[in-house]
This record gives sequence, structure tokens and C-alpha cells, in this order.
Amino acid sequence: MGICKFTYNAYQKFITSILHNGYVIGNYQTYTDFEKVCILRHDIDVDIAKAVKFAEIEHAMDGVQASYFVLLNTSFYNAFEARNIKGIKKIANLGHLVGLHFDETQYVWGKNINCLTEYILKEVNLLEQIIEIPVNIISMHRPSKFLLESNLCVPGIINTYSALFFKDFKYLSDSMHTWREDAEKIIIDGKFKRIHILTHPFWYTDQPETMRDKVYNFIINGNLQLYNELHKSVLPNINNLIKQEEIEI
Ligand SMILES: [Zn+2]
Repeated sequence: MGICKFTYNAYQKFITSILHNGYVIGNYQTYTDFEKVCILRHDIDVDIAKAVKFAEIEHAMDGVQASYFVLLNTSFYNAFEARNIKGIKKIANLGHLVGLHFDETQYVWGKNINCLTEYILKEVNLLEQIIEIPVNIISMHRPSKFLLESNLCVPGIINTYSALFFKDFKYLSDSMHTWREDAEKIIIDGKFKRIHILTHPFWYTDQPETMRDKVYNFIINGNLQLYNELHKSVLPNINNLIKQEEIEI
């Protein structure tokens, strides 16, 4: 199936197919208004810039709306960095929703759900302050079985991992660069009235690339970014120590 190519073009065609097969793109609040509905969710695990690219593609398709979830506790990006704040605000300005992507492993919470709820609310509050937009949706980053089974309920917040969005909806995901089911066939068959689709912008590129190449290029570019950052912020003479060519493989 085309979406397995993980290109921007394949994603556009997938959305077009969803719309042509009678589904309306709804969100976590509006879905009840429609008989056949798809919710588009994107977890930003690695790279805000790629999420912005996705947001632009969707916006260009008659304002298709998705929900984007931002991590605050990750070593891959800093949501407080000016360029990332700009990116997240841009996603919202394109008509999308922004929520918190929460990583339970960053905290010691001893399987105490009340304790975890407080950490979630703290991060929601922080994200609101960063982007100056109210945040009322969350998704979980690689949730444990315990958390999934706890049916966590955070006051005033929609949990996209609640039983509602998993059991009442057909759930499709491209996690780990793999669609476990034929998502396109499921859309064409139209058997499910409510579908919840998770895609990770990190995996998508202009041209088809292998998963290995995507990961490899990401690591190499990461080295280059570290080099440039050291040059800009800490070591103006880094070139005397290590030449840029030395880390460009
Ligand atoms: Zn995640």
C-alpha cells in the first residue's frame, strides 16, 4: 500500500482517500458530530520541524485538521527553544490542535496515579505558558501496560489513550515505521465508523527511503547540529580543534 512508502505524497494520497471514502476529519471533541469520522493524531517524538511540514501539508488540503502532541521531557528537542516555540505556534496557527505528549518514564511516581496526574498537569501548564495557547489534550509516549489499564482521568483534560479512543475507535498507527494493518484497505472497506490514526512525522520524507537510511541520516545530521551549536554558542574557534569535514561522513 502507498502509505507504506512513508513519503509526504503518500500521506497526502492517504488523506485524500479518507475523504473520498466518506469520512470527515474530526478531532477529540467534534467527532460525535459525524457519522463516519477519522481523528488524525501526530506524536512529535523527535523533530518539531518535520511536524510543521506535516501541518502545512494538511492545511493545504482544504484545512484538514490534526492534533499534534509535544514532548517537554526529551533530549531530542527543547520546546523552550525560540525556533521550536515558533514551530509549535505555526502548527496551531494553521488550524491544528496542540496537546502534551507525556513520557511517564521521566518521573518517579511509584504507580501512584494521583502523583502522575500532578506531573501531567504541571507539564500541561508549562506547555500552555510556552506556546500561550490553552492545552486540553494529552497523549502518552510509550505508555506502560499499567498506565494503559489504569484508564487515567485528568481533570479538564482529554486523554487520547482513554478506553473511548481505543475501544470505540479503530486504532491505526505507523509506530516504529510499520503499519501493522492495511490502513488503506480499512478506509476503503469503510467497516469502521470511527477511526483514530496515529502517524509520526519523523518517518516521512520527500522521496522513499529505507528506515535504516532515515535513522542513519538523522544520527549524522545530529552530529553536525551539535558541531554547529558548539561553534555558535560555546567554541567560536572549534574549527581549530576539529574540522567540520571530519564529522561529515
Ligand atoms: Zn511518542
